[in-house]
Amino acid sequence: SDIRPNLRKFIYEQCLINGEWRSADSGKTIAVTNPATQEVIAHVPNCGATETEHAIQAAATALPAWRQKTAAERAQVLKRWHALVMENQQALGELMTLEQGKPVAEAKGEIAYAASYIEWFAEEARRSYGETIPGLTASQRIIVTREPVGVCAAITPWNFPAAMITRKVAPALAVGCTIVVKPASETPLTALALAALAQEAGVPNGVFSVVTGDAKTIGEAFTSSELVRKISFTGSTAVGATLMAASAPTLKRISLELGGNAPFIVFDDADLDKAAQGLIDSKFRNAGQTCVCANRVYVQRSIADAFTQKLLEKVRALNVGNGFDDGVTIGPLISEKAVEKVEKHIADAKQHGAEVVYGGARHELGGTWFQPTVLSNGTPDMLCTKEETFGPVVPLIPFDSEEEALGYANASEFGLAAYFYARDAGRIRRVAEGIEAGMVGVNTGLISNATAPFGGVKASGMGREGGHQGLDEYTELKYVCIDV
Ligand code: ADP
Repeated sequence: SDIRPNLRKFIYEQCLINGEWRSADSGKTIAVTNPATQEVIAHVPNCGATETEHAIQAAATALPAWRQKTAAERAQVLKRWHALVMENQQALGELMTLEQGKPVAEAKGEIAYAASYIEWFAEEARRSYGETIPGLTASQRIIVTREPVGVCAAITPWNFPAAMITRKVAPALAVGCTIVVKPASETPLTALALAALAQEAGVPNGVFSVVTGDAKTIGEAFTSSELVRKISFTGSTAVGATLMAASAPTLKRISLELGGNAPFIVFDDADLDKAAQGLIDSKFRNAGQTCVCANRVYVQRSIADAFTQKLLEKVRALNVGNGFDDGVTIGPLISEKAVEKVEKHIADAKQHGAEVVYGGARHELGGTWFQPTVLSNGTPDMLCTKEETFGPVVPLIPFDSEEEALGYANASEFGLAAYFYARDAGRIRRVAEGIEAGMVGVNTGLISNATAPFGGVKASGMGREGGHQGLDEYTELKYVCIDV
């Protein structure tokens, strides 16, 4: 078993609602499994509407006192939470590997990344500035302030079990909101452990609750509630659209961080070594299961062979295995369904004439492990250019001109991340400005960090997380006109 003794105290099998650990009223539970071994690690409550409404009510009750604290007081609590998360980085990382599968080193990296949002928003809490505007008459003053939106609800996915939570909870708490989180049923343990540490750090009862259980029921309890003023969701476009529609009758604020389909373009003037490394960074993190992973790779024809060779050298060095084993860089995919999608995309690419130059099939380890895969001579109408593969597959597609590459990049309903490698200054400006995406990496494959606004356009959603902009999602402007 991978359940090491040091992890037991971080495994919570109850929900944290209003500062109390509790089971589902029905007594029902959901099993949490290790995707590497299929071993059942724990059971979490299968809560429904009643428990969710209880958490929402508690968040509403806790709101007045929390929002009245000074920004500095709330920042102190967040800083203590940040410190506790970092003190327990090793155990939290291992817990994440246990339920999600990513290698321990990568999981520890995500814990530090998740903690960086807590630290960032603890700092930004004190900088939620307003403004004053000259009045229309001599005695008039126009004052604009920021107030917390109120009770918030968040629904998060399994691919980043820690960071997707802190990115929403930290800014909410920083500005004086209270929040109820429903984590993905695949990875609730990291969420519950984070909530336990928040409680230890001094987050008051009801300010941050975690409810596990049936996604649809809990989602409906959130969207139908008059008390919930904002919903923040990270996940699929289909579910995001459902939540948006369901939030319409009560006119909630919404932030949606949805699917991506990132283009990655390598131009003939690029530093090919750097581009190959950037592609590895962007593509294979979390075994290809991130919404900003390069999904379709366009390579200028004159350098396609040279680039492919450099890429293959690096792909050969990737090491597939159990995330707890030393040197492993690619863990299992989250589920059998995920493996089937990858297989479908590869089969479709082959039908379009693409050649498998590396991998292309399930890994000999069995389970949900998949070989890192490189396909060459792809076409711009393959399935994997239209939807997220969410697996370790690099489809290389040749192109001739800059205009053609930009056309391919923008021929997608999605617009989250995009990457390109080039040296020509004019080309860098033209492509960075021409590409339809919320985030563009130029000569880098890593763009996510707490200091910058993360988010997408088109079917990739709306709203931004991180940066000082991440606070705005949780505040309302109030304008006061004083005539004295
Ligand atoms: P993914 O492909 O990442 O699983 P989902 O959108 O299905 O994408 O899941 C993201 C989050 O949304 C998870 O917490 C999941 O439980 C939740 N979810 C799934 N379906 C619904 C729904 N109908 N209403 C509310 N939340 C949902």
